[in-house]
Amino acid sequence: MIDLDSCDQSLFPTVHRSSRTDFAACLQCKSCGNGCPFVSAMDFTPNQIIRLVQLGMAPQALESATIWICVGCNTCTINCPMAIDIPAVMDALRHLALERGVAIAEPDILEFHREVLHSVERYGRTHKLEIMMRYKLKTLDLFSDLGVGLRMLKKRKLDLTPSKIDDIHHLDPVFKG
Ligand code: SF4
Ligand code: SF4
Repeated sequence: MIDLDSCDQSLFPTVHRSSRTDFAACLQCKSCGNGCPFVSAMDFTPNQIIRLVQLGMAPQALESATIWICVGCNTCTINCPMAIDIPAVMDALRHLALERGVAIAEPDILEFHREVLHSVERYGRTHKLEIMMRYKLKTLDLFSDLGVGLRMLKKRKLDLTPSKIDDIHHLDPVFKG
């Protein structure tokens, strides 16, 4: 049931402006969700998220787990007959959720995003081992992926020490504004 009185009229234009995506063109054909590798873990399918934004249903869209579970792989956009940039919409919703201080449905994933950004800020690229270790310490989930981590180390898929790009100060405008 949609309560039109409680619809947030600013949601559509805000997400439209921030994502630079014309999601008004969505046909609700569901091709995006059908191809999404993470749809089974989501509470709303990608097309449902688009519809929530179109209808101004801000709490449902901003508090959804979907916007944090989306990994931005672009599979949905490739499948979309209207070429809608769904990852950009998810990104805009994540920003808005943080801006409005809504309860984050997947706080551990937010923590993971923070650690990835922290690594890029420090080295100009990601140092996966450090990201995982910091993430594990922060979430106090120390041992769940130990086996995978050890196998990756054995196959030399994880660098023990980080490598830094030259001229890291070029990233200052990104992180320091
Ligand atoms: S594939 Fe594109 S047009 Fe179809 S429902 Fe998803 S976003 Fe809408
Ligand atoms: S970008 Fe997000 S919504 Fe689209 S297919 Fe990948 S995980 Fe699913």
